[in-house]
Amino acid sequence: MAGHSHIKMWIISTLLLMSFVHPSLANVKKEAKYLILGAGAGGLHAARLLLAQNITDFIILEGTNQIGGRSERSVDFGGITFNPGDMFVYGNIDYLQRLGFGLQKYDFAFWEVRNDQGEDITPEANTQDGILYAAKEATNDLAEGVVKHERPDIDQKTAMAMKGWLAKSPLDEIVQWYYFDFDQGIQMKRESLVGTYRQSLQPDYYLITDYGDSGLFSDVEQQLDEDHLHLGEVVVKIDQSGDKVTVTTGNTPSEEEEYVADYVLVTFSLGVLQQGELTFIPPLPEWKTEQLCRYQRGTIEGVLLRFASKFWSDAEWILHASDRQDVDYHHYPAFLNVDREWMHPGSNILVAILTGKKP
Ligand SMILES: Cc1cc2nc3c(=O)[nH]c(=O)nc-3n(C[C@H](O)[C@H](O)[C@H](O)COP(=O)(O)OP(=O)(O)OC[C@H]3O[C@@H](n4cnc5c(N)ncnc54)[C@H](O)[C@@H]3O)c2cc1C
Repeated sequence: MAGHSHIKMWIISTLLLMSFVHPSLANVKKEAKYLILGAGAGGLHAARLLLAQNITDFIILEGTNQIGGRSERSVDFGGITFNPGDMFVYGNIDYLQRLGFGLQKYDFAFWEVRNDQGEDITPEANTQDGILYAAKEATNDLAEGVVKHERPDIDQKTAMAMKGWLAKSPLDEIVQWYYFDFDQGIQMKRESLVGTYRQSLQPDYYLITDYGDSGLFSDVEQQLDEDHLHLGEVVVKIDQSGDKVTVTTGNTPSEEEEYVADYVLVTFSLGVLQQGELTFIPPLPEWKTEQLCRYQRGTIEGVLLRFASKFWSDAEWILHASDRQDVDYHHYPAFLNVDREWMHPGSNILVAILTGKKP
């Protein structure tokens, strides 16, 4: 008997110790059929699709205290609200139109190129653009070979050089930058050839001109109550070793909470996943880790500039072909003209777009 009570005491003290070392054991597990991790555009649209099918057994976990992620950080400037994270759309716009957003077809080719002296060199830029585009089309056979695993991947700069394109002047550089670096937010020599493969389809672009009173996801937001949207929940671990998936949130052990679900959708950005702050149990397979590590993050930043008066033309984009050698050619070469009839006439605002290396 004395031995039994000794064992009993040992079990009790072990359990006490375990709950001290693992405070999460004390936390009530929250269950849902679906967990959506992240309330950015991806997570909110997933919720929108579930709600459209009357599926409500889901919880969204978002680390910050607001929804929208990179998409909805709006900026008030000069009396105008800008939504820099979701200005342009390409592909199928029916969905956005059904939701009532104003869209304006946008022409990236409506550009004007000026040199350091302010001279209009757009005709020369158009000629070089034609040459670049022909070389780009010629790289498609290389890209197809990569997609079919018949040849190793190469970077875009190498592929373009193989097809006869080499930037030899500031004008060539700005034309090249506009097509590749600007569009991707990453330098072409650092990007896979496959990155622009399908771009040869030349999709139409649209600019979102009317967000209504709120952002792109106000329809979803209205349907999300506190049961479905948990803000301030930083996900630290995803454990799929059991029958169900267990997701742990909390910055410190004492804050840990556990959520259990049948299905989990992770919408965190590549940057978040590359930081390695999220633990996967079991670890992600090697092929997935390879893909995560492989892709590089680009930089896109917009700088809003308001002038006393409008001194530029009605072109949609104004590009600067600078021959200065003391600046990286990525710096300040593109200005989006928002002082247009169907945008913000009279605003005297240009948006300088920066991509490539972080300035
Ligand atoms: C300046 C700028 C301009 C852009 N312009 C356009 C454009 O014109 N057109 C276009 O289509 N796209 C544009 N984009 C890109 C577009 O905004 C993004 O692709 C899109 O918003 C990404 O949505 P997402 O849901 O995939 O990721 P995110 O918006 O990053 O959402 C992920 C969410 O997960 C949360 N999260 C991250 N880690 C954790 C964690 N551990 N625990 C809990 N929550 C976490 C984040 O807080 C975030 O809310 C632009 C982006 C920027 C920055």
